[in-house]
Amino acid sequence: MIKNYTRSRSNSFTILSTILFLALLAASGKAYVTDHVVLVIIDGLRYSEGLGDPTFEHVPRMGALATEGALINDFQNDGDTYTSRAIPAIWCGAWTDINTFSDPDCNGSSNNTTELPTFFEYYRKQLSRPAEDCVYTLKALCPWKASLDPDYGTDFWPLYHSVGSTDIDVGHETEQVISDLAPHFLLMYLADVDSKGHSGDWDDYLVAISTADSLVGALWDVLQADTAYAGKTTLLVTNDHGRHDYDFTGHGDGCAGCRQIQLLAIGPDIQSGLASDIPRTIPDIAPTIGELLGFTTEDATGTAMLELLDPTAGIERNVEVMTPSSISLKRLFPTPFNSELSIEYEMLDSHLASISIFNLQGKQVWTRNVSSRGEGMHTLKWDGRDQSQNGLPSGIFIVQLSNQRLSQSQKVLLLK
Ligand SMILES: [Zn+2]
Ligand SMILES: [Zn+2]
Repeated sequence: MIKNYTRSRSNSFTILSTILFLALLAASGKAYVTDHVVLVIIDGLRYSEGLGDPTFEHVPRMGALATEGALINDFQNDGDTYTSRAIPAIWCGAWTDINTFSDPDCNGSSNNTTELPTFFEYYRKQLSRPAEDCVYTLKALCPWKASLDPDYGTDFWPLYHSVGSTDIDVGHETEQVISDLAPHFLLMYLADVDSKGHSGDWDDYLVAISTADSLVGALWDVLQADTAYAGKTTLLVTNDHGRHDYDFTGHGDGCAGCRQIQLLAIGPDIQSGLASDIPRTIPDIAPTIGELLGFTTEDATGTAMLELLDPTAGIERNVEVMTPSSISLKRLFPTPFNSELSIEYEMLDSHLASISIFNLQGKQVWTRNVSSRGEGMHTLKWDGRDQSQNGLPSGIFIVQLSNQRLSQSQKVLLLK
């Protein structure tokens, strides 16, 4: 009798746990660690000078990111190999019709809209996000207007930061946007590789590629040093089209050089070191971003590139909601401190983790890898100096313990 009672209690407990677990899954809406996506479009970079060159001669930073993240071996522009058709296909997840009109906001010069909704509009409408959370950085020009779709349109268009005249200007502006607005969805568009290619000077074209590569590398560094982005941002880098394999100064036909482009992805949900052999095309980008950020791209013809995702990432995250976390920041003492701070923390497994110190401006001043210390309670000392051993001024600092999926922080006052 007692035995039966115990068993039935334990059964209902199991059922209750299962229901709770499913409810938490449903409540979280999506099963990814990613909550920021940054997309970079490098206009007209031919694959043979980009990641198609196994030595990565002109793109060392992107080569390193592709090695650390995922690369698609066969990624194609499967439509028109022109900017004005291919970029909207990236936005819409489909090859969309374009409407051209005389735009009074641009002194009557011609401007365009897409027929189908864009990922900006899907994102902002479905997730109720303000324009400041969805930013498009590019050089100064007359930016396209919102789609003509009656359910989307102007109310859901992104915030444009259209400044400067070079990719370097756009890179600076993007860093500014990251620090000022920290948008969850950011698109940086680099135009110089294509225009230098059209100019016909091979050396200028290669310099533009190296510059774009450095800007992507610097962008990733900025994201990793920013507490709003580090550990929860997926970066995608692609092109709208390549260039003729027989003539680098042009593009626009169906030759292999124009069609083959790159898709590089790196982030907490992306498999590490993956070189995927599943062929993909431009319309697959928008649904993949939707999958990660939790919006649907109902008029897209492409599909999410699930093969790039780490199948365990989302599951672990949800399990962590139910079980004690694998890392725990316990106590900082003394506080305030003058010469030495003790940071007490617990690790329940021996996975990669780090302790970082940030100032109130969000700048990382000091960091240590702590994963080698393994399971159990540990204490790490910090002497109030930065990474270069320079003493820091009095003030509040944020101590953060983090691994790939989780971060915990506490504030501490340094008093000189
Ligand atoms: Zn282009
Ligand atoms: Zn061509």
